[in-house]
Amino acid sequence: MLSIQNLHAEIDGKVILKGLTLELGAGEIHAIMGPNGAGKSTLAYVLGGRPGYEITEGSVTFQGKDLLDMAPHERAAAGLFLGFQYPVEIPGISNVQFLRTALNAQKKERGEAELSGGAFLKIAREQADGLGLDMDMMKRPVNVGFSGGEKKRNEMVQMGIIDPALAVLDETDSGLDIDALRIVGDGINRIMRKPDKAVLLITHYQRLLDYVRPDFVHVLADGRIVRSGGADLALELERAGYAGIAA
Ligand code: ADP
Ligand code: MG
Ligand code: MG
Repeated sequence: MLSIQNLHAEIDGKVILKGLTLELGAGEIHAIMGPNGAGKSTLAYVLGGRPGYEITEGSVTFQGKDLLDMAPHERAAAGLFLGFQYPVEIPGISNVQFLRTALNAQKKERGEAELSGGAFLKIAREQADGLGLDMDMMKRPVNVGFSGGEKKRNEMVQMGIIDPALAVLDETDSGLDIDALRIVGDGINRIMRKPDKAVLLITHYQRLLDYVRPDFVHVLADGRIVRSGGADLALELERAGYAGIAA
């Protein structure tokens, strides 16, 4: 699904990723944990193709294609979804308009037929129901006036509608209370826990991993993966902290 080899990336002359190697197979959920400033968000931005990052060495292959060679919209159309710690607000555009436009743009790029308004609304309603957001919220401007938990649930609705092959979720759990955490965790499992999909779950804390059990856990420190293991590694980190492990 995703193969990252010896990735080096910098921004404004500051080297952030220093030889990161990571392989994700279809059907797998990988968690990346690590201290603040390790480069976790940088990895998500680089995968998404955010401008400003310079890749100085290494490669990223997504479903056999050179990801770094693709424009951000091509990455999305190829099946990459990114979720961010702070979802953006888009005044003046409703969730429904925004998502239908995004989904149809991706379908067009792939040479597939676009969805009618009715067909789209049916999918939107199913996904909103699954995340406990009512359809009134789907008709409101994207994330405007939404609480932190509603923004995160809305992001999972977006993911369900887009139905990506690979989701990279950067601190999706931050700011969630216990109930929202369970709803979001259930959403990730329902939408993405499938043999032909994979998830890269970037998280600071172990608690989301109680709901979304990862197949692999990696520790990112100072721009590299310094340790990998199974789900138990997250529990060990929670007990021992990053200090001993990153050393
Ligand atoms: P994490 O998500 O693991 O907390 P980030 O990827 O956000 O880490 O940041 C990694 C490092 O990159 C930090 O030291 C941060 O200060 C630095 N950094 C991020 N953006 C810039 C920038 N525009 N210019 C210089 N340094 C940056
Ligand atoms: Mg951070
Ligand atoms: Mg971060």
